[in-house]
Amino acid sequence: MGNAKLYDNHGRAINYLRLAVTDRCNLRCFYCMPEEGIKYLPKKDLLTFEEIERLVSLLATLGITKIRLTGGEPFVRTDLMQLIRKIKAIPGIHDLHLTTNGVLTAPYIKELKALGIASVNLSLDTLDKTRFHTITRRDEFENVMNTFEQLLHYGIPVKINAVIMEEKNIDDILPLIELTKYKDVSVRFIEEMPFNGEGNHYTQLTWTYKKILAYIQQHYPTLQKVTDPDYSTAYHYVVPGYRGNIGIIAAFSRTFCGTCNRIRLTAQGTLKTCLYDDGVLNIRDLIRSGCSDEELKNQLLNAFAHRPKDGFEAEERRSNHKPVSESMSTIGG
Ligand code: SAM
Ligand code: SF4
Repeated sequence: MGNAKLYDNHGRAINYLRLAVTDRCNLRCFYCMPEEGIKYLPKKDLLTFEEIERLVSLLATLGITKIRLTGGEPFVRTDLMQLIRKIKAIPGIHDLHLTTNGVLTAPYIKELKALGIASVNLSLDTLDKTRFHTITRRDEFENVMNTFEQLLHYGIPVKINAVIMEEKNIDDILPLIELTKYKDVSVRFIEEMPFNGEGNHYTQLTWTYKKILAYIQQHYPTLQKVTDPDYSTAYHYVVPGYRGNIGIIAAFSRTFCGTCNRIRLTAQGTLKTCLYDDGVLNIRDLIRSGCSDEELKNQLLNAFAHRPKDGFEAEERRSNHKPVSESMSTIGG
């Protein structure tokens, strides 16, 4: 199957699932997790590979065609490649993508290519080893750069994700853009969101997408806007003559909700129909209570029929009425 079309209560198509396979991580990015005191989920609270396979197969019959594996760091999950092979074999799943920090990824790239992975998003906020350590609190810069080179070597489409933060990596914006000069890579600058496990680092976001764009335009006056792919969360630009492109993602300003085609499954098996909600369906407990496929399908469809219109409404509807502060490591970005 997999040819079904799924729409929410606002007429938006839903065809994309972002799946967090673990909440564990081998980095401690400043904007994502506190340095210490993180309580990881007990392993029994994660969906098993069999549970994931069942759920993805069901979602494929409803209209999901694209999956992104994320985390935490996906490669920290034992036997991740086994899960990737299983998902690739599910009828109706046409595109499998991965978001990774690149620390453990390099040895698997050859097989990812052979399996037909559609693209890899690599998180890399700086090209400076010292700043890398300041941001991620770990000394893994060389491993991440090796992953980047290997991805290019094997011809896997690569997008670099860089969260832009005052006093942290503003000096990296231009060097990251220069990567697009000779390499066919997309570099995406992302507004920082308060999903850091602590709440706001800032009272107001300084580096909004508008400010990021103005900064880039100031240094590249010939910057050209190009057409954004369908459902894209990024505004795309190119520097004329450069091979790659630049994206700016208004993740905090939430300018893209009107065409949002994505749902999320957190590491603990909770469905989110908006990044900013606090979970709308505990799928893990449903599955473990012996729920039939038919019942599961009805619960899913009901959740899709009550989607908030945007991230602001989702935040208002949160059960504790508090603004977001949970770590992105359980959500997957
Ligand atoms: N560990 C993998 C990685 O870093 O690529 C996958 C999970 S990570 C949570 C997914 C994406 O979320 C990364 O690109 C990361 O930069 C982004 N992210 C995490 N916390 C964020 C925040 N507070 N604001 C904006 N983006 C964030
Ligand atoms: Fe880990 Fe990714 Fe969060 Fe960094 S952004 S701490 S790599 S989950």
